[in-house]
Amino acid sequence: MFDIDPFTIFFFILGALLGSFANVVIYRLPKDQSVVTPRSHCPKCGKIIPWYLNIPIFAWFFLRGRCYFCKEPFSVRYPIVELIMALSFAYLYSVYGLTWSLLEYLIFSFGLITASVIDLDHMILPDRFTLSGIVIGLLGAYLNPERDFMDALVGFLIGGGVLYATAYAYFLLRKIEGMGGGDIKLLGWIGAVCGWKAIPFVLIASSGLGLLFGIFYILKSKQGLKTGIPFGPYLSAAALIYIFFDVEPFMAMAFPF
Ligand SMILES: [Zn+2]
Repeated sequence: MFDIDPFTIFFFILGALLGSFANVVIYRLPKDQSVVTPRSHCPKCGKIIPWYLNIPIFAWFFLRGRCYFCKEPFSVRYPIVELIMALSFAYLYSVYGLTWSLLEYLIFSFGLITASVIDLDHMILPDRFTLSGIVIGLLGAYLNPERDFMDALVGFLIGGGVLYATAYAYFLLRKIEGMGGGDIKLLGWIGAVCGWKAIPFVLIASSGLGLLFGIFYILKSKQGLKTGIPFGPYLSAAALIYIFFDVEPFMAMAFPF
């Protein structure tokens, strides 16, 4: 089912390069720094990293996770982000082929993965991702003959609306904000790209993942869960599962109405 042809390799490399770019965005965007200049440099010694020491995925292993010049350790997260992006791109190509939908899902997964890591670091989902994602998603549905614009529009409205209502109810009950505005916009974005039928699955799967990791986190930290775990990565993971796999038949079995 995972056929490898020259395009698979092309999309793997493209994903790895964009994963490398995502790492720059993740590091610089929350600090309001330019993602274009200056060139990649070591945060400790400031030396510019030449391209051959900056090859996605491989360079990190080759240098054993350290700066070539000053031996400052670099996080293992860099090659992980690059690998996830590379595998996602190659896999999406194998599922969708060279289609409009592939282009849309590549942009979508780049945005989701990048925004999720920013959310993990800073507990924010930047509007630059969610709001642009909604616009690009709706525009994509309009241009893409494989998609239906109304489906995307309803998906955006239900996605955003459902979480907005949950957040509002939570606020009325507890008088504190449990769900960030970023999550609301994120689910609106997911609905705009995946259509309204994706929303029930994304809500169920993300809650399941959140519960699983939440329990794991509580056991590990031996503290209660007050606030503090961002929900964006779970919503994003669920949306990626939705576009990676054909989950509709399972949803139809679980909810036969
Ligand atoms: Zn260095």
